Amino acid sequence: MLKFPKDGTDSKTIFSKMDQLKERDGNWKEGKTWSLVYYAGEEITKVAEEAYLKFFHANALNPAVFNSLRQFENDILSMAADLFHGDEETAGSLTSGGSESILMAVKTYRDEARVLHPEIKEPEMILPVSAHASFEKAAHYYGVKAVHIPLNDEYKADIKVLEQAITPNTILIVGSAPAYPQGIVDPIAQMGQIALKHGLRFHVDACLGGFILPFVRDIGYQIPDFDFSVPGVSSISADLHKYGFAAKGVSAILYRNSELRRYQYFAYADWPGGLFVSPSATGTRPGGAIASAYAVLNYLGRQGYQNLTRKVMTITKKLQEGISRIPELFILGKPEAGVFAFGSDSINIHALADKLEEQGWVIDQQSNPDCLHFMVTPAHEAVSESFLRDLRAGVDQLKTSPETIKGNSAALYGMKAALPSGKTEEYLLDSLNKLMGRNE
Ligand SMILES: *Cc1c(COP(=O)(O)O)cnc(C)c1O
Repeated sequence: MLKFPKDGTDSKTIFSKMDQLKERDGNWKEGKTWSLVYYAGEEITKVAEEAYLKFFHANALNPAVFNSLRQFENDILSMAADLFHGDEETAGSLTSGGSESILMAVKTYRDEARVLHPEIKEPEMILPVSAHASFEKAAHYYGVKAVHIPLNDEYKADIKVLEQAITPNTILIVGSAPAYPQGIVDPIAQMGQIALKHGLRFHVDACLGGFILPFVRDIGYQIPDFDFSVPGVSSISADLHKYGFAAKGVSAILYRNSELRRYQYFAYADWPGGLFVSPSATGTRPGGAIASAYAVLNYLGRQGYQNLTRKVMTITKKLQEGISRIPELFILGKPEAGVFAFGSDSINIHALADKLEEQGWVIDQQSNPDCLHFMVTPAHEAVSESFLRDLRAGVDQLKTSPETIKGNSAALYGMKAALPSGKTEEYLLDSLNKLMGRNE
């Protein structure tokens, strides 16, 4: 076991050790990873970093003390509300990320239902199976039952089943714009109609798409309505730390009005530490992340995001065309932006992922259905050719020598294809526990 250091170490030694460890991390800067880091190049990164450092010490826990952060937060939320066709009534919060935004939305509607519908003892929310796993986390944390509906053959929430899934206990419907697994936008307009008809809340998870879909539309692609322009949409989550290109640790949750948002807040008046009121799940909130989002939004403006989006879409189309030319592979559905998945009817797609990993690519594997997942950023411009080359070579090898799935350690992000049968969740908990306990 590593002991707590008795003496301090000079920073040069510490940083050289840290740099050494960093060498073994996923190489996102050169486009080898296809998830986790949304990199828009050095120029934008520098702006985000400088803003972050200026507010390194600032704490958004108390906006009355940090007026700067309060203004950044209000401005960011207002800009986001405008982007999503909100109005003067739209109200929201910045959170630490998509998961927290989603947790807050579910908590808000549970608490609203407790007040407006006290007869509901076991609240339910309806989730397309493609909804992000953090809704399951929210269900677990807040005691709301997740009722799943399947996808149709376009990988969109099946609205025929949606209406049948509504019970007297339903409080919330969830849709995604787009959903993470296949990068496809749910039929938000029709879902909004159903929510209105049944007097239900409707949350649109635009964590992934919030800061790209509007710009994809701007540059001329067809994007279905997914935001407050759709009647029935009650709230939207959108991550600034994804295609917003801000530092990690900042996302927005927006509601139609501040009466809804009030259910998100928490207050406690009897604490010896003083009157306590808090907007979201966290206490201390890092000022740096908020400041970086403010700086990058203003630095890029709509024009800047459109230019980056044009890049992302060009790379995405190039990759998708290359994939479509490989007869063994197919893209799942018709993804709207820079996130998509491909599968195969003839080769083992997980074995293909292993082949690609041998070439240094970091590949996300999914199941139900089996496919590989890609999130495209401007950093992939330089590697799209070499990726397609490695992909073709991998497919050529596999189609002549059928392989079995290798046991692998990349199974942690929503993936269970390569896991032993039995209690998959128990296995995942044990694996994470072991992974985090390791010190080499
Ligand atoms: C990333 C993502 C989330 C969760 O966001 P985090 O910032 O990772 O907590 C939720 N929904 C969708 C669609 C996402 O892509």
